[in-house]
Amino acid sequence: MFTQFNLDPQLMKAIEALDYSAPTPVQLQAIPAALAGDDIMVCAETGSGKTAAFVLPTLHKLINKKAPNSATRVLILAPTRELARQLFKQCEALAKFTGIEAGLITGGESFKFQAATFRKNPEIIVSTPGRLIDHLGRKPNLMNDVEVLVLDEADRMLDMGFAEDVMAIANHCDEQKQTMLFSATMNQKGIRHVIKQVLNDPTTITVDAIKGSHGNIKQQIMLADDDQHKDRLLTWMLANETYRQCIIFSNTKAKTDELYHFLRYHKHKVGVLHGDMTQDERNHIMSRMQQGHVSVLVATDVASRGLDVKNIDLVVNFDLPRSGDDYVHRIGRTGRAGEQGLAVSLVDHSEWNLKASIERYLKIELEVRKVKALLGKYKGPKKVKSNGKPVGKKKKDVKKAVAKKSAGKKPANKQRRSPAKPSQAHFGDGTAPFKKR
Ligand code: AMP
Repeated sequence: MFTQFNLDPQLMKAIEALDYSAPTPVQLQAIPAALAGDDIMVCAETGSGKTAAFVLPTLHKLINKKAPNSATRVLILAPTRELARQLFKQCEALAKFTGIEAGLITGGESFKFQAATFRKNPEIIVSTPGRLIDHLGRKPNLMNDVEVLVLDEADRMLDMGFAEDVMAIANHCDEQKQTMLFSATMNQKGIRHVIKQVLNDPTTITVDAIKGSHGNIKQQIMLADDDQHKDRLLTWMLANETYRQCIIFSNTKAKTDELYHFLRYHKHKVGVLHGDMTQDERNHIMSRMQQGHVSVLVATDVASRGLDVKNIDLVVNFDLPRSGDDYVHRIGRTGRAGEQGLAVSLVDHSEWNLKASIERYLKIELEVRKVKALLGKYKGPKKVKSNGKPVGKKKKDVKKAVAKKSAGKKPANKQRRSPAKPSQAHFGDGTAPFKKR
């Protein structure tokens, strides 16, 4: 029960209003540690209730330790604008009965308006790192009074190249600050360095580490011959699955736009979200999604983190994501706060190895689902090795055969969709390497 934390009555009122009946596992562990004032690093799965796990103890601290002459006292950094906006909204909901104010600072919004936000001196600022660095360039003292620093989805922030910015921002905050780092994985390449630089003897909390979790989400694959076949499978699913809202992921902006037009043509209430859209467009589509005016959202990975829409109960990976962690974040858009969800990945021959790698990384086997009326030619490899890769000719023999075949021949100029190859950079970050170590 939430009563065990002895949180301020104003916070208990908000918890009641939000209808949280019991703390989630991450809240059970992180709230007492944060209330004790420790630096914490928390490895928790997405959708686990981690936002309240850091916002509640932070608000409790603000209520009980008044500092009327301070500027901003809490800084929450998030990798994407969407996540920052959602964190901001959760802060507002949890602080509803406290009189504590929060401000949102992200790229894509007016600088002038944001300068006015700072002038109002909100106790909490939720921000993306890049824009905050711009503001600090103009006013280096802005964050000097920050006594609680939260780095949310730290792995993603570092993936996006924000390591230097994050460390620079941390240096702007009060030296005695409490720092809380939340990350889906502690395997991210640069994360140890940031932890060493920014956190002070942190308490480690691991709850349902990202791998092997998501028991409430049914995970399936459908084998496909090519993109046209995937289109047909997708249309079938949207017509035959029972879902309230669905999100379809693709790896590229171009494909996302293509799918959006395809689904619009098929009369779906569809929206699109990718990084080339303006912030206003992105906000607009998110609010249409929240209000239920859009039932199918096509998105790139921009949307895979932080997007919290309760009614999403179907996730489709039109292309497989390039790493196991990205896969987990995508499917985590459904099954929020313990609800049931379905995630279906469409896999063609060029994605088989990636599928095998994701399965090995997550230690799961994805159920193969067949639609009788839409069975294709591709059935997967005849035989697979213990690592899930197809049994094939040895590399040496293949090389020889290829050399022999192509001797004297012009190189083939076949147009192919680029396969979703796992990049080397992802190996430490969510995709098991194929090579034996
Ligand atoms: P998060 O992992 O912070 O993005 O939270 C995922 C969702 O769970 C959000 O919609 C929260 O409002 C919700 N949530 C957080 N804590 C609880 C709780 N104790 N009980 C029920 N829902 C919760």
